[in-house]
Amino acid sequence: MRRFDKLTTNKRIAILGSTGSIGTTALRVIDGLNDLPKDKSPRFEVVALSGHSNIKLLAEQVRQYRPKYVAVSDIDCVEEFRRLIEGLDVKVLAGAEGLTEIAGLEEVDTVLAAVVGVAGLSAVLAAVRKGKRIAIANKEPLVIAGQLITAEAKKYGAELLPVDSEHSAIFQALQAGRHEEVAKIILTTSGGPFRKANPAGIPNASIEQVLAHPVWRMGPKITVDSATMMNKALEIIEARWLFDVPAEKIEVMVHPESIVHSMVEFMDGSVIAQMGSPDMSLPIQYALTYPLRLPGSAKKLQLDRLKTLTFEKPNPRVFPAIEMGFEVAQKGGTAAAVFNAANEAAVEQFLAGRIKFGNIVELVRRCLDNYIVKMDDHWQDARDTNASLEELLEADAWAKREVMECLKNHQLR
Ligand code: NAD
Ligand code: MG
Repeated sequence: MRRFDKLTTNKRIAILGSTGSIGTTALRVIDGLNDLPKDKSPRFEVVALSGHSNIKLLAEQVRQYRPKYVAVSDIDCVEEFRRLIEGLDVKVLAGAEGLTEIAGLEEVDTVLAAVVGVAGLSAVLAAVRKGKRIAIANKEPLVIAGQLITAEAKKYGAELLPVDSEHSAIFQALQAGRHEEVAKIILTTSGGPFRKANPAGIPNASIEQVLAHPVWRMGPKITVDSATMMNKALEIIEARWLFDVPAEKIEVMVHPESIVHSMVEFMDGSVIAQMGSPDMSLPIQYALTYPLRLPGSAKKLQLDRLKTLTFEKPNPRVFPAIEMGFEVAQKGGTAAAVFNAANEAAVEQFLAGRIKFGNIVELVRRCLDNYIVKMDDHWQDARDTNASLEELLEADAWAKREVMECLKNHQLR
Protein backbone atom coordinates (compact mmCIF):
# COMPACT_ATOMS: atom_id res chain seq x y z
CA MET A 1 0.00 0.00 0.00
CA ARG A 2 1.33 3.44 -0.87
CA ARG A 3 1.73 5.81 2.08
CA PHE A 4 -0.97 8.19 0.86
CA ASP A 5 -3.44 5.33 0.38
CA LYS A 6 -2.81 4.25 3.93
CA LEU A 7 -3.34 7.76 5.24
CA THR A 8 -6.59 8.11 3.34
CA THR A 9 -8.11 5.01 4.90
CA ASN A 10 -11.63 5.94 5.84
CA LYS A 11 -12.23 6.99 9.41
CA ARG A 12 -15.05 5.99 11.71
CA ILE A 13 -15.66 8.68 14.24
CA ALA A 14 -17.46 9.19 17.55
CA ILE A 15 -18.11 12.79 18.64
CA LEU A 16 -18.52 13.18 22.39
CA GLY A 17 -20.34 16.46 22.97
CA SER A 18 -21.58 16.88 19.37
CA THR A 19 -24.12 19.57 20.34
CA GLY A 20 -21.53 21.99 21.72
CA SER A 21 -19.43 24.68 20.09
CA ILE A 22 -16.57 22.29 19.21
CA GLY A 23 -18.96 19.42 18.35
CA THR A 24 -21.00 21.43 15.85
CA THR A 25 -17.87 22.94 14.28
CA ALA A 26 -16.43 19.42 13.96
CA LEU A 27 -19.51 18.22 12.08
CA ARG A 28 -19.06 21.12 9.62
CA VAL A 29 -15.39 20.16 9.22
CA ILE A 30 -16.41 16.57 8.49
CA ASP A 31 -18.96 17.75 5.90
CA GLY A 32 -16.19 19.73 4.19
CA LEU A 33 -13.79 16.78 4.17
CA ASN A 34 -16.44 14.43 2.82
CA ASP A 35 -17.10 16.93 0.00
CA LEU A 36 -13.47 16.68 -1.19
CA PRO A 37 -12.69 14.24 -4.05
CA LYS A 38 -12.42 10.66 -2.75
CA ASP A 39 -8.76 10.30 -3.74
CA LYS A 40 -7.84 13.50 -1.85
CA SER A 41 -9.32 12.85 1.59
CA PRO A 42 -10.42 9.99 3.79
CA ARG A 43 -14.19 9.64 4.21
CA PHE A 44 -15.45 10.32 7.71
CA GLU A 45 -18.30 8.13 8.83
CA VAL A 46 -20.09 9.46 11.91
CA VAL A 47 -20.67 6.28 13.90
CA ALA A 48 -21.67 7.83 17.24
CA LEU A 49 -22.78 11.17 18.66
CA SER A 50 -23.45 12.40 22.18
CA GLY A 51 -25.26 15.27 23.81
CA HIS A 52 -26.32 16.17 27.33
CA SER A 53 -29.56 18.13 27.53
CA ASN A 54 -29.83 19.92 24.16
CA ILE A 55 -31.73 16.95 22.76
CA LYS A 56 -33.55 18.86 20.03
CA LEU A 57 -30.27 19.63 18.30
CA LEU A 58 -29.01 16.13 19.02
CA ALA A 59 -32.10 14.65 17.35
CA GLU A 60 -31.54 16.89 14.28
CA GLN A 61 -27.94 15.67 14.12
CA VAL A 62 -29.11 12.06 14.29
CA ARG A 63 -31.51 12.68 11.38
CA GLN A 64 -28.75 14.28 9.32
CA TYR A 65 -25.78 12.00 10.08
CA ARG A 66 -27.55 8.69 10.80
CA PRO A 67 -25.06 7.40 13.41
CA LYS A 68 -25.46 3.84 14.66
CA TYR A 69 -25.20 4.98 18.29
CA VAL A 70 -26.13 8.05 20.24
CA ALA A 71 -25.50 8.74 23.92
CA VAL A 72 -27.71 11.08 25.93
CA SER A 73 -25.71 11.76 29.07
CA ASP A 74 -28.46 13.57 30.99
CA ILE A 75 -30.61 10.67 32.19
CA ASP A 76 -33.63 12.98 32.61
CA CYS A 77 -33.66 13.74 28.88
CA VAL A 78 -33.50 10.19 27.54
CA GLU A 79 -37.21 9.46 27.37
CA GLU A 80 -38.06 12.62 25.53
CA PHE A 81 -35.13 12.07 23.20
CA ARG A 82 -36.42 8.62 22.29
CA ARG A 83 -39.72 10.23 21.31
CA LEU A 84 -37.92 12.78 19.14
CA ILE A 85 -36.14 10.13 17.09
CA GLU A 86 -38.92 7.55 16.94
CA GLY A 87 -38.70 5.35 13.86
CA LEU A 88 -34.97 5.95 13.30
CA ASP A 89 -32.55 3.04 13.37
CA VAL A 90 -30.15 4.18 16.10
CA LYS A 91 -29.13 2.64 19.39
CA VAL A 92 -29.67 5.07 22.29
CA LEU A 93 -27.32 4.78 25.27
CA ALA A 94 -28.10 6.60 28.49
CA GLY A 95 -26.16 8.49 31.15
CA ALA A 96 -22.44 8.84 31.81
CA GLU A 97 -22.00 5.10 31.09
CA GLY A 98 -23.50 5.60 27.64
CA LEU A 99 -20.92 8.27 26.91
CA THR A 100 -18.09 6.01 28.04
CA GLU A 101 -19.51 3.16 25.97
CA ILE A 102 -19.50 5.07 22.68
CA ALA A 103 -15.91 6.20 23.36
CA GLY A 104 -14.74 2.60 23.39
CA LEU A 105 -16.84 1.15 20.54
CA GLU A 106 -15.17 -1.47 18.37
CA GLU A 107 -16.63 0.20 15.24
CA VAL A 108 -14.89 3.52 16.07
CA ASP A 109 -11.26 4.41 15.37
CA THR A 110 -11.29 8.17 16.02
CA VAL A 111 -12.89 9.84 19.02
CA LEU A 112 -13.39 13.59 19.20
CA ALA A 113 -13.59 14.45 22.91
CA ALA A 114 -15.59 17.69 23.07
CA VAL A 115 -17.55 17.36 26.29
CA VAL A 116 -16.97 20.15 28.80
CA GLY A 117 -15.42 19.51 32.21
CA VAL A 118 -14.56 16.47 34.31
CA ALA A 119 -17.69 14.79 32.86
CA GLY A 120 -15.54 13.69 29.91
CA LEU A 121 -12.83 11.99 31.97
CA SER A 122 -13.96 8.35 32.00
CA ALA A 123 -14.90 8.46 28.31
CA VAL A 124 -11.44 9.81 27.42
CA LEU A 125 -9.83 7.07 29.49
CA ALA A 126 -12.03 4.43 27.83
CA ALA A 127 -10.95 5.63 24.37
CA VAL A 128 -7.30 5.66 25.48
CA ARG A 129 -7.54 2.10 26.79
CA LYS A 130 -8.98 0.94 23.47
CA GLY A 131 -5.99 2.47 21.66
CA LYS A 132 -8.00 4.98 19.62
CA ARG A 133 -6.96 8.23 17.99
CA ILE A 134 -8.36 10.85 20.34
CA ALA A 135 -8.76 14.38 19.03
CA ILE A 136 -8.92 16.06 22.42
CA ALA A 137 -10.65 19.39 22.95
CA ASN A 138 -11.95 18.51 26.42
CA LYS A 139 -8.99 19.90 28.38
CA GLU A 140 -10.24 19.26 31.92
CA PRO A 141 -9.50 15.48 31.88
CA LEU A 142 -5.92 16.27 30.82
CA VAL A 143 -5.63 18.81 33.61
CA ILE A 144 -6.95 16.46 36.28
CA ALA A 145 -5.43 13.20 35.09
CA GLY A 146 -2.79 14.17 32.52
CA GLN A 147 -0.20 11.88 33.97
CA LEU A 148 -2.52 8.88 34.01
CA ILE A 149 -3.97 9.57 30.54
CA THR A 150 -0.59 10.05 28.86
CA ALA A 151 0.88 6.95 30.58
CA GLU A 152 -2.12 4.84 29.54
CA ALA A 153 -1.94 6.22 25.98
CA LYS A 154 1.64 4.96 25.75
CA LYS A 155 0.67 1.59 27.17
CA TYR A 156 -2.33 1.05 24.87
CA GLY A 157 -0.91 2.73 21.75
CA ALA A 158 -3.52 5.50 21.73
CA GLU A 159 -2.81 8.75 19.86
CA LEU A 160 -3.64 12.02 21.63
CA LEU A 161 -4.02 14.86 19.16
CA PRO A 162 -4.65 18.32 20.58
CA VAL A 163 -7.62 20.37 19.40
CA ASP A 164 -7.11 23.31 21.76
CA SER A 165 -5.73 25.93 19.34
CA GLU A 166 -2.61 26.69 21.43
CA HIS A 167 -1.76 23.03 21.83
CA SER A 168 -2.37 22.31 18.17
CA ALA A 169 0.06 25.15 17.41
CA ILE A 170 2.66 23.73 19.79
CA PHE A 171 2.16 20.24 18.36
CA GLN A 172 2.80 21.64 14.87
CA ALA A 173 5.81 23.72 15.96
CA LEU A 174 7.36 20.77 17.80
CA GLN A 175 7.72 18.98 14.47
CA ALA A 176 10.64 21.34 13.74
CA GLY A 177 12.96 19.73 16.28
CA ARG A 178 13.53 17.00 18.84
CA HIS A 179 12.06 16.90 22.34
CA GLU A 180 15.40 17.40 24.06
CA GLU A 181 16.07 20.48 21.90
CA VAL A 182 13.04 22.38 23.23
CA ALA A 183 13.99 25.37 25.39
CA LYS A 184 10.55 26.84 26.01
CA ILE A 185 6.91 26.52 25.14
CA ILE A 186 5.18 29.88 24.74
CA LEU A 187 1.41 29.81 25.12
CA THR A 188 -0.39 32.84 23.72
CA THR A 189 -3.61 34.38 24.98
CA SER A 190 -5.83 37.10 23.54
CA GLY A 191 -6.11 38.56 27.05
CA GLY A 192 -9.87 38.06 27.10
CA PRO A 193 -12.47 40.82 27.58
CA PHE A 194 -10.72 42.47 30.57
CA ARG A 195 -7.18 42.94 29.24
CA LYS A 196 -7.54 46.71 29.22
CA ALA A 197 -10.17 47.05 31.94
CA ASN A 198 -9.53 48.92 35.18
CA PRO A 199 -8.59 46.11 37.65
CA ALA A 200 -10.83 47.72 40.29
CA GLY A 201 -13.98 47.11 38.25
CA ILE A 202 -13.30 43.55 37.07
CA PRO A 203 -14.58 41.68 40.18
CA ASN A 204 -18.07 43.10 39.63
CA ALA A 205 -18.31 42.33 35.90
CA SER A 206 -21.73 41.08 34.81
CA ILE A 207 -22.42 37.70 33.20
CA GLU A 208 -23.04 39.51 29.86
CA GLN A 209 -19.69 41.33 30.03
CA VAL A 210 -17.91 38.09 30.88
CA LEU A 211 -19.54 36.16 28.03
CA ALA A 212 -18.57 38.79 25.44
CA HIS A 213 -15.21 37.34 24.38
CA PRO A 214 -13.42 39.64 21.91
CA VAL A 215 -12.19 36.88 19.56
CA TRP A 216 -13.66 33.41 20.09
CA ARG A 217 -17.28 32.17 20.19
CA MET A 218 -17.26 29.22 22.59
CA GLY A 219 -19.35 27.38 25.18
CA PRO A 220 -20.18 29.32 28.39
CA LYS A 221 -17.74 27.52 30.73
CA ILE A 222 -14.61 28.12 28.64
CA THR A 223 -15.75 31.69 27.93
CA VAL A 224 -15.86 32.41 31.67
CA ASP A 225 -12.49 30.64 32.03
CA SER A 226 -11.07 32.91 29.32
CA ALA A 227 -12.20 35.99 31.24
CA THR A 228 -10.70 34.86 34.56
CA MET A 229 -7.62 33.48 32.70
CA MET A 230 -8.33 30.15 34.39
CA ASN A 231 -8.41 28.87 30.81
CA LYS A 232 -4.74 29.76 30.41
CA ALA A 233 -3.94 28.22 33.80
CA LEU A 234 -5.65 24.99 32.69
CA GLU A 235 -3.75 25.15 29.39
CA ILE A 236 -0.39 25.39 31.19
CA ILE A 237 -1.20 22.11 32.93
CA GLU A 238 -2.60 20.61 29.71
CA ALA A 239 0.67 21.48 27.89
CA ARG A 240 2.76 20.10 30.74
CA TRP A 241 1.25 16.65 30.19
CA LEU A 242 0.58 16.61 26.45
CA PHE A 243 4.16 17.60 25.61
CA ASP A 244 5.96 16.20 28.65
CA VAL A 245 7.60 19.50 29.62
CA PRO A 246 8.08 20.83 33.17
CA ALA A 247 6.21 23.99 34.19
CA GLU A 248 9.54 25.88 34.27
CA LYS A 249 9.77 25.56 30.48
CA ILE A 250 6.32 27.06 29.87
CA GLU A 251 5.66 30.78 29.41
CA VAL A 252 2.50 32.80 28.70
CA MET A 253 2.34 35.84 26.37
CA VAL A 254 -0.62 38.11 25.80
CA HIS A 255 -1.14 38.47 22.06
CA PRO A 256 -4.38 40.39 21.43
CA GLU A 257 -4.40 39.85 17.64
CA SER A 258 -4.81 36.07 18.17
CA ILE A 259 -2.93 35.22 14.98
CA VAL A 260 0.05 33.41 16.52
CA HIS A 261 -1.63 30.51 18.29
CA SER A 262 1.49 29.55 20.27
CA MET A 263 5.23 29.04 19.82
CA VAL A 264 8.14 26.77 20.62
CA GLU A 265 11.60 28.14 21.29
CA PHE A 266 14.41 25.69 20.59
CA MET A 267 17.79 25.72 22.33
CA ASP A 268 19.54 27.42 19.38
CA GLY A 269 17.22 30.42 19.78
CA SER A 270 14.89 29.58 16.88
CA VAL A 271 11.27 30.34 17.68
CA ILE A 272 8.74 28.39 15.61
CA ALA A 273 5.24 29.87 15.60
CA GLN A 274 2.02 28.60 14.08
CA MET A 275 -0.21 31.31 12.64
CA GLY A 276 -3.70 31.27 11.23
CA SER A 277 -7.02 33.03 11.51
CA PRO A 278 -8.74 32.39 14.83
CA ASP A 279 -11.05 29.60 13.70
CA MET A 280 -11.38 26.29 15.57
CA SER A 281 -12.17 24.42 12.35
CA LEU A 282 -8.43 24.45 11.58
CA PRO A 283 -7.11 22.66 14.70
CA ILE A 284 -10.13 20.32 14.69
CA GLN A 285 -9.45 19.31 11.09
CA TYR A 286 -5.72 18.85 11.67
CA ALA A 287 -6.38 16.55 14.63
CA LEU A 288 -8.73 14.46 12.49
CA THR A 289 -6.56 14.26 9.36
CA TYR A 290 -3.03 14.37 10.85
CA PRO A 291 -0.48 13.87 9.34
CA LEU A 292 -2.35 14.98 6.23
CA ARG A 293 -3.10 18.64 5.56
CA LEU A 294 -6.21 19.09 3.46
CA PRO A 295 -8.16 22.07 2.11
CA GLY A 296 -10.33 23.58 4.83
CA SER A 297 -12.81 26.37 5.41
CA ALA A 298 -10.70 28.55 7.76
CA LYS A 299 -10.15 32.04 6.35
CA LYS A 300 -6.67 32.48 4.90
CA LEU A 301 -4.43 35.05 6.53
CA GLN A 302 -3.83 38.27 4.64
CA LEU A 303 -0.46 39.15 6.07
CA ASP A 304 -0.31 42.62 4.51
CA ARG A 305 -3.53 43.52 6.35
CA LEU A 306 -2.17 42.44 9.73
CA LYS A 307 0.47 45.18 9.95
CA THR A 308 1.44 44.46 13.56
CA LEU A 309 1.60 41.50 15.88
CA THR A 310 2.15 42.44 19.51
CA PHE A 311 3.20 40.44 22.56
CA GLU A 312 3.32 41.40 26.22
CA LYS A 313 3.75 39.62 29.54
CA PRO A 314 0.46 39.15 31.42
CA ASN A 315 -0.05 41.48 34.36
CA PRO A 316 -0.27 39.25 37.47
CA ARG A 317 -2.39 41.87 39.25
CA VAL A 318 -5.04 41.63 36.55
CA PHE A 319 -4.70 37.86 36.03
CA PRO A 320 -3.65 36.07 39.25
CA ALA A 321 -5.05 32.80 37.84
CA ILE A 322 -2.03 32.35 35.57
CA GLU A 323 0.39 32.18 38.51
CA MET A 324 -1.91 29.63 40.14
CA GLY A 325 -1.69 27.52 36.98
CA PHE A 326 2.11 27.43 37.23
CA GLU A 327 1.95 26.66 40.95
CA VAL A 328 -0.39 23.71 40.39
CA ALA A 329 1.55 22.41 37.37
CA GLN A 330 4.66 22.30 39.58
CA LYS A 331 2.87 20.62 42.44
CA GLY A 332 1.54 17.60 40.52
CA GLY A 333 -0.40 14.78 42.19
CA THR A 334 -3.99 15.62 43.10
CA ALA A 335 -3.50 19.43 43.21
CA ALA A 336 -4.70 19.94 39.62
CA ALA A 337 -7.85 17.90 40.30
CA VAL A 338 -8.61 20.21 43.25
CA PHE A 339 -7.82 23.29 41.20
CA ASN A 340 -10.00 22.23 38.28
CA ALA A 341 -12.93 21.10 40.44
CA ALA A 342 -12.95 24.30 42.49
CA ASN A 343 -13.05 26.26 39.25
CA GLU A 344 -15.85 24.14 37.73
CA ALA A 345 -17.95 24.60 40.88
CA ALA A 346 -17.24 28.33 41.09
CA VAL A 347 -18.05 28.93 37.40
CA GLU A 348 -21.33 27.08 37.84
CA GLN A 349 -22.18 29.33 40.79
CA PHE A 350 -21.28 32.44 38.81
CA LEU A 351 -23.37 31.43 35.78
CA ALA A 352 -26.29 30.75 38.12
CA GLY A 353 -25.97 34.32 39.42
CA ARG A 354 -25.04 33.27 42.97
CA ILE A 355 -21.55 34.76 43.20
CA LYS A 356 -19.67 37.72 41.75
CA PHE A 357 -17.18 37.30 38.90
CA GLY A 358 -14.29 38.18 41.22
CA ASN A 359 -15.32 35.40 43.61
CA ILE A 360 -14.37 32.69 41.09
CA VAL A 361 -10.61 33.11 41.37
CA GLU A 362 -10.97 33.91 45.08
CA LEU A 363 -12.81 30.63 45.70
CA VAL A 364 -10.27 28.62 43.73
CA ARG A 365 -7.42 30.24 45.69
CA ARG A 366 -9.11 29.47 49.02
CA CYS A 367 -9.79 25.92 48.02
CA LEU A 368 -6.17 25.42 46.98
CA ASP A 369 -4.90 26.95 50.25
CA ASN A 370 -7.26 24.79 52.32
CA TYR A 371 -6.17 21.74 50.34
CA ILE A 372 -2.53 22.46 51.09
CA VAL A 373 -3.25 22.97 54.80
CA LYS A 374 -5.89 20.30 55.40
CA MET A 375 -5.67 17.71 52.68
CA ASP A 376 -2.25 17.54 51.07
CA ASP A 377 -0.99 14.92 53.54
CA HIS A 378 -4.04 12.77 52.95
CA TRP A 379 -2.81 12.22 49.39
CA GLN A 380 0.85 12.05 50.39
CA ASP A 381 1.62 9.14 48.06
CA ALA A 382 -0.04 10.89 45.18
CA ARG A 383 1.69 14.19 45.82
CA ASP A 384 4.41 13.99 43.21
CA THR A 385 3.45 11.17 40.93
CA ASN A 386 0.98 8.48 40.05
CA ALA A 387 -2.26 9.59 41.63
CA SER A 388 -4.84 6.89 40.96
CA LEU A 389 -8.14 7.63 39.26
CA GLU A 390 -9.93 7.06 42.58
CA GLU A 391 -7.69 9.57 44.36
CA LEU A 392 -8.20 12.12 41.58
CA LEU A 393 -11.98 11.74 41.70
CA GLU A 394 -11.89 11.92 45.50
CA ALA A 395 -9.93 15.18 45.22
CA ASP A 396 -12.45 16.48 42.64
CA ALA A 397 -15.36 15.73 44.99
CA TRP A 398 -13.53 17.20 48.00
CA ALA A 399 -12.89 20.51 46.20
CA LYS A 400 -16.50 20.79 45.03
CA ARG A 401 -17.68 20.31 48.63
CA GLU A 402 -15.08 22.80 49.85
CA VAL A 403 -16.41 25.48 47.48
CA MET A 404 -19.92 24.96 48.86
CA GLU A 405 -18.54 25.14 52.42
CA CYS A 406 -16.85 28.48 51.69
CA LEU A 407 -20.11 29.78 50.24
CA LYS A 408 -22.15 28.58 53.18
CA ASN A 409 -19.81 30.30 55.60
CA HIS A 410 -19.91 33.51 53.51
CA GLN A 411 -16.14 33.59 53.40
CA LEU A 412 -16.15 35.84 50.35
CA ARG A 413 -15.11 39.37 49.62
P1 NAD B 1 -20.05 23.61 25.01
O1 NAD B 1 -20.63 23.98 26.30
O2 NAD B 1 -20.42 24.42 23.81
O3 NAD B 1 -20.39 22.08 24.68
C1 NAD B 1 -20.23 21.08 25.62
C2 NAD B 1 -20.74 19.73 25.11
O4 NAD B 1 -20.67 18.82 26.21
C3 NAD B 1 -22.21 19.76 24.68
O5 NAD B 1 -22.38 18.83 23.63
C4 NAD B 1 -22.96 19.28 25.92
O6 NAD B 1 -24.17 18.64 25.60
C5 NAD B 1 -21.97 18.31 26.51
N1 NAD B 1 -22.09 18.20 27.98
C6 NAD B 1 -22.32 19.20 28.88
N2 NAD B 1 -22.36 18.71 30.13
C7 NAD B 1 -22.17 17.38 30.03
C8 NAD B 1 -22.12 16.33 30.98
N3 NAD B 1 -22.28 16.54 32.29
N4 NAD B 1 -21.90 15.08 30.53
C9 NAD B 1 -21.73 14.84 29.21
N5 NAD B 1 -21.77 15.80 28.26
C10 NAD B 1 -21.98 17.06 28.67
O7 NAD B 1 -18.47 23.59 25.18
P2 NAD B 1 -17.33 23.82 24.08
O8 NAD B 1 -17.02 25.26 23.99
O9 NAD B 1 -17.65 23.08 22.83
O10 NAD B 1 -16.08 23.15 24.80
C11 NAD B 1 -15.93 21.74 24.89
C12 NAD B 1 -14.53 21.44 25.43
O11 NAD B 1 -13.55 21.89 24.48
C13 NAD B 1 -14.21 22.15 26.75
O12 NAD B 1 -13.43 21.32 27.55
C14 NAD B 1 -13.41 23.37 26.31
O13 NAD B 1 -12.51 23.80 27.30
C15 NAD B 1 -12.66 22.81 25.09
N6 NAD B 1 -12.29 23.83 24.11
C16 NAD B 1 -13.26 24.56 23.48
C17 NAD B 1 -12.90 25.54 22.56
C18 NAD B 1 -13.96 26.32 21.81
O14 NAD B 1 -13.61 27.10 20.93
N7 NAD B 1 -15.22 26.17 22.10
C19 NAD B 1 -11.54 25.79 22.29
C20 NAD B 1 -10.59 25.03 22.96
C21 NAD B 1 -10.96 24.05 23.87
MG1 MG C 1 -7.15 27.37 23.97
